[in-house]
Order: sequence, then structure tokens, then C-alpha cells
Amino acid sequence: MSLSCFDPRFGERMLSVDEALSVLGESLASVMRTPRSERVALAQAPGRVLAETVISPLDVPAQTNAAMDGIALARASLPDAESGEPLSDHCELSVIGSSLAGHPWTGRALAAGEAMRITTGAALPAGADTVVMQEQLEYRSAQGLVDGDAGERVVIEGVTSIRRGQNVRQAGEDIARGSQAMAPGQWLTPAAVGVLASLGLAEVAVYRPLTVAVFSTGDEVTAPGEMLPAGGIYDANRFSLVALLRDQGIEVLDLGILGDDEASVSAALRDAATRADMVITSGGVSVGEADHVRSALAACGELALWRIAMRPGRPLAFGMLRATSADAESSSGQVPFFGLPGNPVATMVTFLQFVLPALRLLSGQQRLAKAEEGASATALAQWQAPRLQLIAGETLRSRAERVDYHRGQIVLDDRGCQVVMTTGRQGSGILTSMLLAECLIEIPAGCATLHAGEPVMVQWLGSRGIV
Ligand code: AMP
Ligand code: MG
Repeated sequence: MSLSCFDPRFGERMLSVDEALSVLGESLASVMRTPRSERVALAQAPGRVLAETVISPLDVPAQTNAAMDGIALARASLPDAESGEPLSDHCELSVIGSSLAGHPWTGRALAAGEAMRITTGAALPAGADTVVMQEQLEYRSAQGLVDGDAGERVVIEGVTSIRRGQNVRQAGEDIARGSQAMAPGQWLTPAAVGVLASLGLAEVAVYRPLTVAVFSTGDEVTAPGEMLPAGGIYDANRFSLVALLRDQGIEVLDLGILGDDEASVSAALRDAATRADMVITSGGVSVGEADHVRSALAACGELALWRIAMRPGRPLAFGMLRATSADAESSSGQVPFFGLPGNPVATMVTFLQFVLPALRLLSGQQRLAKAEEGASATALAQWQAPRLQLIAGETLRSRAERVDYHRGQIVLDDRGCQVVMTTGRQGSGILTSMLLAECLIEIPAGCATLHAGEPVMVQWLGSRGIV
């Protein structure tokens, strides 16, 4: 899309969520810098974003090893079973020693008719290519059954087929030495740090976390812990926003609550822009009387006020604050600003649709080369919560001209099929609907009624509320 996000036409007509994401993506591409990086110990790396390409210095696993306890042998030294008859009669082997996890066999290679006792994870001895598991073995000696030691005989019992390479993990089968194990931009999940550890890496380069300034606006908004004055409401948004940000590994500057007064809001925005990579406010962006965020922003940057065809969350301000950051090198001189609607559900839903993808982009989870600017919209949409298709467990209604995000729970219907139900009352001030939500049910624009039993897309919020 060639329109700037500050195009005044966006103020006149409703923007679709996709259009808003598209112009947002283009706007952010113009201020994007590769974040600076630092090296951290692997234990500090979860929740950070990898800043380097990791080439594996070794094969994982490092050696071909047993996946089961049992014996290692060369498959070719066994006869082939004929027409499903058990191999046991022909399969008496002599045990020449043991290869234990951490104590590999260092003696000679196995010859035909020989086997080696082996434990899970122990290196396969030279000459062996196959492992037969303990449960299929019987050890024999002159004294009867024994425990299986060098010099003993072992019989494979009741087995009709042994495949060459069975119960063996090949060296490098997970990650081959010299191959790319991970790319920059990888979000370091528990699995990712596990993989890095398996390569023997004690530290990695990660991007510096973004710093995001947050404040609430509104004369009625009161900090928890204070007496609630007549007409007051406790500040829920700053706490849910700070928690959402921390969950993304963001460093938060909590700037408290600002009254509905243009001078203090613009002073706070100016200050925040010198200290943060992004500034987020909630409240004060609707076309009401006390909308000082808009005029404050006009004084310290460029502002776009969008009416987005979605519920909850119709009004949304996006802007670029002029930054006077000391760190000119990593700054474009402009700091993105999101003015989220004040209703607590709307705050969270707009955060998830727009701010979360923007943060993931700017934090280096996805980098856009200049040449890829055209792909920026797609890139932003990619970072939204994952979508699943489910069956509506009840009839859902919406206004046809906008997307509705109902808070949903996944339940089993009376036939045991998974269906999605709303969490109950859906007002944009009913924050307990987010408390109960496992997903956001997306009722698309153009669909006024979605009947029970029809397929519906949901944005999965994950087991902890937000993925
Ligand atoms: P506004 O967007 O400022 O018009 O606010 C819309 C609604 O959200 C009003 O009912 C506000 O009282 C409420 N609200 C605004 N900010 C907060 C906040 N930080 N926490 C809880 N409710 C809020
Ligand atoms: Mg307000």
C-alpha cells in the first residue's frame, strides 16, 4: 500500500484490521534498526532473541549410540529369518564386553558371531550397527542363566525380524556438524536454549531488549493501593500492559498515570521519547471531550488517529514521536507511539492485534531488509497470535461491517467434539472476559450471525493467556 500511515483519509473512513496492519508495517519499516547485541550466559538467554547465526561445532549426537539397553551387534552376522520363524535357534552370540554410557568400549571391533552389552546412550562399538533390546535377550552360561558379561553367550529370544540399524541413533542425525542450527531472530524458547546447550555453547549473542514506556491517562484513573475517589476507577491497563510487555522480554518504563491535561501529557511524551524505543498509553484517544493525548501528540510528533473496523478497540492512535535520544546510532530519531483505547478489554485486544506484532518486529524477531519493505504487512500479520479453526458451540452475533473479537473458551460438546464458546458477557469493560479467555473468536467483517456448528477462526492465546 502506498498510503502513509499519516494519510488524513484514514481519519475519515474506517480502516480494516488488515489495512491498519499494513500501513503500520510500512511505517515501522522506516524506523527499524537492527537492535544492538550483547553476549549472555545461556541460563540468561530464555526469552531473548538470538542475534547470531549458530553453526554447529559438532555432530548431535556426537557419536552413534544405542537408543535402548541391550546388545550391539552387526546385523550381517545374523541369519535372515525365514517365513516368520523365530531367529532364536540360530542366534547365539558371544559377549566380548560392555559399552556403557560415558564409558565407551575401547577394545577391538566386533567380529561375526559376537555381541557387546550396551546401555542407552553408550557409543556403538566398531563393527556394530544394530541394537537388540534387553527384553528380547537371554544370557546363558554353563551355570545356567547369568547377567551377561564378557565371555557369556547370549540368545535372542522369540524375535522374527531384526532390522539393520534398529535402536541406533546415528551421529549427527539431529544436527550435523557444520550445518546451521539456528538463525538470528530466533526467539529463545526452552527448546531453543536446550538445542544451544546440546551444541556445548555456554553463551550466545542476543539482541538488547527494547525499552517501552507505558502510562495511563484519565482524571478518574487511580493507582491500586490508593483510596478510590468518587467517580474513580482503578488503573487496570497499566498493569495488564506491563505484564504483556514483560512477557515479551521487554524492559518497561512504568510512567504512572497522567491526568486529562494536555501540558502534562505532552511533557510526559517528550520525556518518554528520550528514554524509550516505543511509548504506549491507554485512554484519551476517543473523540470525546477529554482527548488530550491527541493534541499533546500533535505537539511532539506526528499522529494518525485511526478508526478501525473492530470491536472492541475502534479508536487507536499511532504516531511517531520526535526522539532526542543520546544514542543516535541505534535510533532513527523517531519513536513509535501507540495510543490504545481506555476500555480494559479494548486495551488488551488492540495490544494483541497491533502492538505485539510491532514489538516482535522491532525486537529483532523478524528483520526487514529495505528490499523487503513491500512484504512488511505480511510480516506484521505473521506475528499475531496463531489462528486455529474451530466449530462455534453457540450462535455468535456481530455487526457486519467490523471484526468482532469475542473472548472464547474451548470446551467439549455433548458428543465429545471441541467447540468454542464465549466467556459470557462481552462488553469492552468486562475484563474478567479476558481472564477466562483461551482464545479470541474472530467474527469477520461481513458476517452478522455465525450459527452454532459453523466453523470459526480463533486466535489462540496459549495456556498462560497470551502465547
Ligand atoms: P477513554 O478511552 O479515556 O475514553 O476511556 C474509556 C473507558 O476506559 C472509560 O470508562 C475509562 O474510565 C476506562 N479507562 C481508561 N483508562 C483506564 C485504565 N487505565 N484502567 C481501567 N479503565 C480505564
Ligand atoms: Mg479517558
